[in-house]
Amino acid sequence: MDLIEKIKNNEILDLVLKANKLTSKNHSNIITLERAIFLSWWCDKGDCSFCYMSTQKNKIKDPKKAKRKINAILAESELCNRLNWNIEFLSGGYKSFSQEEIKNIATDIYNITKSPVWLNTGITNDLELFSEEIAGITGAVETANPVFHEKVAPSKSLEDISNMLFNAKDLGFKKAITIILGLGETVEDIEYLIDFISKHDIDRVIFYSLNPHPQTEYENSSQPSSLYYAGVVSSIRIKFPKIEIICGTWEDNLANIGILILSGANGLTKFPLFKMFGTKYGKRVEEEVKFTGRSLKGTFTDYNKLGENKSSYNKNLDKFIERYIKQAKNQKNKTI
Ligand code: SF4
Repeated sequence: MDLIEKIKNNEILDLVLKANKLTSKNHSNIITLERAIFLSWWCDKGDCSFCYMSTQKNKIKDPKKAKRKINAILAESELCNRLNWNIEFLSGGYKSFSQEEIKNIATDIYNITKSPVWLNTGITNDLELFSEEIAGITGAVETANPVFHEKVAPSKSLEDISNMLFNAKDLGFKKAITIILGLGETVEDIEYLIDFISKHDIDRVIFYSLNPHPQTEYENSSQPSSLYYAGVVSSIRIKFPKIEIICGTWEDNLANIGILILSGANGLTKFPLFKMFGTKYGKRVEEEVKFTGRSLKGTFTDYNKLGENKSSYNKNLDKFIERYIKQAKNQKNKTI
């Protein structure tokens, strides 16, 4: 019976068990905490049906003001490094930062973390500019069914993403894609995803579950079920035992974590780091990982790892480092 039939016949646990065996055989026991670092709150496209930025486009008068301060971006990167979190990628809307600015930010982050950084900064033909500061290029596919994709993300064509990923491969970069579950896709659409991963020799798939933002057409939609999410992730793990899989889940859905790890996730993402640090929610993430028998790289609870209120990279980051540490320490007894 094929993978899609298994999901449709409510035999998802069979898939999860098989996926877990393959993950244990082909990957280390480590689960990473991943942090997407946002560059701006502006996107020139602003028409993806699920996206928070689509609700901002007509509200932001001056896109330059929606750019984050570079020193804040670097301070956040330094704190991720202290906490042993990975930087999932640099992410920003279209036409917020130039490619040269993105390269400079990536180079600073490389110098801080000693690890090359992934990019998820939109479709571009200008990849030649980048070199050892970049680990790989992410195509924000969101949904791999080409007809449905036209509806969900009309201004970033799958063909253009595809060409960018082929170009990234030619230049020796790794390739990742993002996929959102719960947009209204069908179980059969897994076939499109499998084809896309094969065709582009994808190294890393990042799954998210729908976050139903107010003022989008999804505002009253529910997030996808945990078992549907597990069924899709375990299907991809079974088809591609060696690729890296990152799974995003929101702070109101932490109970997804255990089953997503057993389905094949190597890393976890989408947490509001400084709001959750040291709280019962951060502890819950660590508990979820513990009961899968995996080891967590990085901490969600150890205040000592936050370190000093000043940067060891550049004193211009000090005030941001201090602000983020204060924010993390102030959350202890708060609910999110
Ligand atoms: S291109 Fe990206 S940032 Fe812009 S609206 Fe679409 S999903 Fe949002």
